[in-house]
Amino acid sequence: MRKLIVGVDLGGTQIRTALADGEGRILRRTSCLTLAEEGPGSVMGRIKGAICEVMGSTDRRQIQGIGVAAPGPLDPWKGVIMDAPNLAGWKNVPLKELMEEEFDLPVFVGNDANLAALAEQHFGAGQGIADLIYITVSTGIGGGIIVDDRLLLGAQGFAAEVGHQTVEAHGPRCNCGNVGCLEALAAGPAIARRAREVIKDGAETAITEIVGGDLDKITAREVNQAAQAGDPIAIELFRQAGFYIGIGIVNLLHIFNPSLIVIGGSVAKAGELLFEPIRTTVRERAMASYYWENTPIVPAALGDDVAILGAVALVLLQEDHDAASWLDW
Ligand SMILES: [Zn+2]
Repeated sequence: MRKLIVGVDLGGTQIRTALADGEGRILRRTSCLTLAEEGPGSVMGRIKGAICEVMGSTDRRQIQGIGVAAPGPLDPWKGVIMDAPNLAGWKNVPLKELMEEEFDLPVFVGNDANLAALAEQHFGAGQGIADLIYITVSTGIGGGIIVDDRLLLGAQGFAAEVGHQTVEAHGPRCNCGNVGCLEALAAGPAIARRAREVIKDGAETAITEIVGGDLDKITAREVNQAAQAGDPIAIELFRQAGFYIGIGIVNLLHIFNPSLIVIGGSVAKAGELLFEPIRTTVRERAMASYYWENTPIVPAALGDDVAILGAVALVLLQEDHDAASWLDW
């Protein structure tokens, strides 16, 4: 009997749910709005509905388990969402317990960016690589660190917040309350903020035309649109973001010595306009060439399905490691 897995990507905006096989092929999928402001009870109802929809009439005995990729901070052992800024009103929600009661299936919960690292390792750009770091650059910057084939969780499950390493000691204020975090300098909103600043300072750029003069409409997407068309200001904004991401990666190379860096998220769609300054900075700032010579920095392979597939990989790991808990191996 073929083993199937349900993967859920519980995001701040959307809940994306899929039924997949052991090779990460998605057989059925559905998505709905999260509407987090309606509270955990209401969102749980939508998650349950989505899971029932993708399972359809599938024999439950075929389903190995349910994996959930959720925004942090969360307790990956207990499957408790602690206080997610993206899920209004969620505080200490025992997601794993609630879902196991509902479905009578094993449920595993992980931080979405952590699980994206697992997804890229199992099904994407990092297959067969035992030491890799995944970085997602979109509205925020998150990551997952796999060391010696194990996802690094830390003592309390809060590890791998690569976006909140300080890369500019007196830099701009970050959403986390600190200043100069990588996220505050290179995530999508930071790129958009810099665009507004330089335009207000008199820079002439195609970005202004793209938003019809309404600077509040600028996001990293419009900056990318202008950059892809060759706009020098927009290109420079991605160069600056890439510079800071490069500094963050140098820190990670020195600490973890991975053999691959995978970068995903919507901002990474800028492609070489972002990757080239990242690689240049890494070469300039790494302590020695052996830190980067054999460590490619590559785009993620899985696109929007990365969190769902990470949740699927999380369930698959239980069997691979033949352990009661995914953390015991
Ligand atoms: Zn921060």
